[in-house]
Amino acid sequence: MLCQRCGEREAEIFLTQQQGDGFYTEDLCPACARRDQGLILGALIQVQTPGAPPLSPAQEEAIRDALDRAAPPGPGPS
Ligand SMILES: [Zn+2]
Repeated sequence: MLCQRCGEREAEIFLTQQQGDGFYTEDLCPACARRDQGLILGALIQVQTPGAPPLSPAQEEAIRDALDRAAPPGPGPS
């Protein structure tokens, strides 16, 4: 099974995420999983560091992705 992120390498890390009533899995190769973790961790440290440069687009996207996964979309605002 190939990595769902890059589609190039064999997936070795299977993340299970809760979404609504069910679960889904995200299959990642080690490189993509590490990239995710590194980006998120680095960005979280960076935003808490006074005088640190602003987040890069890649970091912002990684955090947005992580937040999306942590808080799956609900039924909607209506
Ligand atoms: Zn990958």
